[in-house]
Amino acid sequence: MKIAIIGAGLAGLTLAKRLSSAHEVSIYEKARGPGGRMSTRRADPYAFDHGAQYFTVESDRFRAFLQPFRDKDLITRWPKQVECVGGARLSDKEKLVAAPGMNGLCKALADDLPVQAGVHIDHLERDGGGWLLVDKAGARLGPFDWVISSAPSVQTAALFPDAFSGQTTLDQTEMTGCFALMLGFETPLELPWTALKSGTAPIGWMAVNSSKPGRPEPYSILVQSDNEWAEQHLEDDPDEIRAILLEAASALARTDLSGASHQVLHRWRYAATRTPAGAPYLIDQDLQLAACGDWCLGGKVEAAFLSASELADQFESPSGT
Ligand SMILES: Cc1cc2nc3c(=O)[nH]c(=O)nc-3n(C[C@H](O)[C@H](O)[C@H](O)COP(=O)(O)OP(=O)(O)OC[C@H]3O[C@@H](n4cnc5c(N)ncnc54)[C@H](O)[C@@H]3O)c2cc1C
Repeated sequence: MKIAIIGAGLAGLTLAKRLSSAHEVSIYEKARGPGGRMSTRRADPYAFDHGAQYFTVESDRFRAFLQPFRDKDLITRWPKQVECVGGARLSDKEKLVAAPGMNGLCKALADDLPVQAGVHIDHLERDGGGWLLVDKAGARLGPFDWVISSAPSVQTAALFPDAFSGQTTLDQTEMTGCFALMLGFETPLELPWTALKSGTAPIGWMAVNSSKPGRPEPYSILVQSDNEWAEQHLEDDPDEIRAILLEAASALARTDLSGASHQVLHRWRYAATRTPAGAPYLIDQDLQLAACGDWCLGGKVEAAFLSASELADQFESPSGT
């Protein structure tokens, strides 16, 4: 079968890897490369994991999937020193990161997959018994027997027709935003932690990005806003957001961070999941459309992997699609 996958984050790539042995798979990604929310922003001489900071492992399935990457040191422990403030708590589970940047895992997965980057799918059209993907430039791609979206729930809802049986669930799924402030310094700072988790808005998390394994040496800090706070300020002036986060982060660090020579703000419109779909994936056998992603199961890296893996099982099962 010809299968189109929208999105080259961990879910889309996990799915593509599994399905490509038995099917003709095409992957379309609107960004310049794979990674999605596990991405790395380079700004010479700095690099920032401006999406996922680290991830944890609960299931044997995810653990087994990661092992070959751990063997090659592409996935490694982050031996950090965390301080929790404002009522925040952090589990003592092992924290893993990809190296040399968070996008390393998705890049490795995408290596031998036909990812077409820089293609922003706008909508789907029927073509006889199949589907055409129409991109923002008006190009018609396909036809495909199946289309699977791994885009965040709101974006999947907009892409798929109203007749998709999962539309109600997509509408009930809620995601929240996040601001990421990337700070690069010419001289290293003396901070007593490598990561700080805050329970008080506007800051949710701060980390010395350059302390992660394999990152460029020049000293860098990544500041993330609280998700609910971001949700209330998504459309505010970015300069104002940057100033608010910089002041609040300096107060938490008890160090003036305004001397950073590199200060760039990134807005994630859909970062975390407030209300998950509550099902590992959504599938409409009649329309031959399906959706997966972290938002199905709870909004973490492991959830993205498990959602895609369970959807792939469905395609591989004898009674499946
Ligand atoms: C700021 C931030 C911090 C986070 N921190 C953590 C953390 O510490 N630990 C943790 O476990 N998780 C964290 N997460 C969540 C984690 O990043 C996600 O759970 C995971 O990366 C989701 O993977 P995914 O494949 O489901 O979705 P995504 O990575 O979002 O992949 C979807 C892809 O679809 C593409 N796409 C969307 N629409 C279209 C379209 N129309 N056409 C073409 N392509 C399209 C997008 O560009 C994207 O690449 C964080 C996320 C953010 C943003």
